[in-house]
Amino acid sequence: MPEIYLYNTLTRKKEEFKPAIPGEVRMYTCGPTVYLYASIGNFKTYVFSDVLRRTLEYNGLSVTHVMNITDVGHLVSDADEGEDKVVAEAARQNKTPWEIAEFYTQAFFRDADRLNILRPTIICKATDHIPHMIRMVEEIVANGYGYETDEGIYFDVSKYPEYGRLSGINLEKQMAGARVEVKTDKRNAADFLLWRKAPKEHIMQWESPWGMGYPGWHIECSAMSREYLGDQFDIHTGGIDHIPIHHENEIAQSWACSGQIPARFWLHGEFLLVDGGKMSKSLNNVYLLDDLAARGYEPLAFRYFCLGAHYRTKLNFTWDAIAGAQTGLRGLRAQVQRAVQSQGSVSEVAEQKVAELKAAFLEAINDDLNTPRALAVVWEAAKSDLGPALRDLVADFDRVLGLDLLTGQAKDEQVDESELPAEVAALLKERAEARKAKDWAKADSLREKLREMGYAVKDVKDGYEVTKI
Ligand code: AMP
Ligand code: ZN
Repeated sequence: MPEIYLYNTLTRKKEEFKPAIPGEVRMYTCGPTVYLYASIGNFKTYVFSDVLRRTLEYNGLSVTHVMNITDVGHLVSDADEGEDKVVAEAARQNKTPWEIAEFYTQAFFRDADRLNILRPTIICKATDHIPHMIRMVEEIVANGYGYETDEGIYFDVSKYPEYGRLSGINLEKQMAGARVEVKTDKRNAADFLLWRKAPKEHIMQWESPWGMGYPGWHIECSAMSREYLGDQFDIHTGGIDHIPIHHENEIAQSWACSGQIPARFWLHGEFLLVDGGKMSKSLNNVYLLDDLAARGYEPLAFRYFCLGAHYRTKLNFTWDAIAGAQTGLRGLRAQVQRAVQSQGSVSEVAEQKVAELKAAFLEAINDDLNTPRALAVVWEAAKSDLGPALRDLVADFDRVLGLDLLTGQAKDEQVDESELPAEVAALLKERAEARKAKDWAKADSLREKLREMGYAVKDVKDGYEVTKI
């Protein structure tokens, strides 16, 4: 097997990765909290775990990829404060939490499919695994790591001396310096809820040895990863925000039950920024794939954009950057699709070059998923004179990249304005006037209307371009 190197957050080193069971990788990815549409930020993280899985498979390993759906227990703050996100959104929309979870789960997978993110081997919903979680909490308490209060069952971090190892947090310092802002009856500032006792009016609640209640977010991942992958598996992934609380807590819980850290490798994707800053509702800059589509960018242009940066670096989203990624992707496809038309037989020189390019590609992705370098190899392949050998080579690379390089749209299908239906032409004119008057809200709503009619408008330097979606 070729050597694969991955950066392990737990050891802070790039390490050679070998699965514990030869040939078989067991991998767990923290899934979405399904109370809103997943943003392009969330999808940066899921593109990363998808590339990881595809890379492992490309190396001939079989991968059991488990991902959970958090449909209960994720509170507004990761530190056990506030309402349950799904329940709060349900109240806002006057729906049941189950309706909310189902709707946004479907939406998540629709977008994930559009990004060529492979479906995990096992997708598990938190609400389907309440008995597993209760059993695990009981075990934690029986082993002396948990205690009951009026609020619920807490994990006592002082019982686990290694708490904080993943994030490098010194617990003593953290505990001494911590201000407990909300009044709780926990013993240590970093203690967290395994099980929360629910007031009568709380909609999602289950029977437990501690009365009616619902699980904490962290116990969900511990219980489900254990159920499907065992006490210790190979890889655990998530976004960097998971390191200091969620994954630290998962480790503590699993340790309390099995005496093992649940995964040998912990991989984390860096955040997506927007215009150099945080993406947030209050700044009105939380973008969805649909927002990109509304401006004529295909989902795979976003995937290409993500692959253009290493997963452990921050990526800054701007409209110019996504436009560049779209042009880059279509350009690469055009180059590939033109070149694969060439006839003739495969020359010895081409065969030699193909072998070199394959080796360079493998080395790049096996070096902690260096996708920017891998993309550079694909560009080089497309520009080399490989004749008919190019098709198989690109198909092979696309098993990891997932960019539809051979089948995807290669050029923007720009529309000749003189052939536009009158209604479309009128809306375009109205939009141009709105923009001139700096009425951005009106311009945006007209763009949306045009999109519903099958036309994407992209603003360019001296006007706009229309493409048929
Ligand atoms: P959530 O649905 O909030 O549980 O988040 C789903 C995933 O998206 C988690 O792995 C987060 O770490 C990740 N995530 C959240 N925001 C961003 C962001 N701006 N950039 C990259 N990943 C993110
Ligand atoms: Zn998780």
